[in-house]
Amino acid sequence: MPERAEERPLGIFGGTFDPVHFGHLRLAEEAADSLALAGVRWIPAGQPALRGTPQVTARQRLAMVRLAIAENRSFEVDTAEVDAERPSYTVLTLERLRQTDHCGPRRPLVLLVGADAFAGLPDWHRWQALLDLAHIGVAHRPGFPIDITRLPGALADTYRDRFCTSSAVLTESPAGRIVSFAMTQLAISATQIRTLLTTGRSPRYLLPDEVIAYIRSQHLYPEY
Ligand code: ATP
Ligand code: MG
Repeated sequence: MPERAEERPLGIFGGTFDPVHFGHLRLAEEAADSLALAGVRWIPAGQPALRGTPQVTARQRLAMVRLAIAENRSFEVDTAEVDAERPSYTVLTLERLRQTDHCGPRRPLVLLVGADAFAGLPDWHRWQALLDLAHIGVAHRPGFPIDITRLPGALADTYRDRFCTSSAVLTESPAGRIVSFAMTQLAISATQIRTLLTTGRSPRYLLPDEVIAYIRSQHLYPEY
């Protein structure tokens, strides 16, 4: 049995954030509340392993995240994946966070993912090791119901074994449980925002004004 955890869990939220939007922000905010997290550590991917190279640079995606979370004292940003000039793998990031000069082995960590990302977990590098390193908190996302009968077989088995209905379990061990949480359902995606931007349409009210101003000033997406 893992040793009893010492502190409130820390949320770990990775993504491409191309660009960051209110779906991401509400996910982190509502996870912190529903799962009683001490805070959320945002980790923009440097070179996402499972998708094509984003249009904007990792530094620019990081800058947008910084702008979006600047006013929230429960949020912090982790630049390690952006700084490492190689593909980003969450399992390696969690191994780094488990080192004693970071969070150490005992602090509960909760990897936050939307339901779409969760269903794709078996494509992630060494995905089964993720639950040795962190809990997983799955956010409901419009269009992606959490349906065990549709999950890939090995993931469905893991879900069955590890799923708990109460988030109280997150403080009982450093890693190994799966919980889900409801969040305000926002059918916002970065893909939708990129489409709006590259076709000269307005993205207002889908993402923070500061991020929109940065996009404009840096001419990040052609046409906008
Ligand atoms: P893209 O369309 O480029 O894939 P995205 O909006 O899905 O962008 P990502 O950076 O891929 O954003 O997602 C980071 C994380 O945030 C993932 O775990 C994803 O499931 C989650 N997420 C993104 N948007 C939402 C949303 N509207 N509701 C719930 N979860 C979301
Ligand atoms: Mg996505």
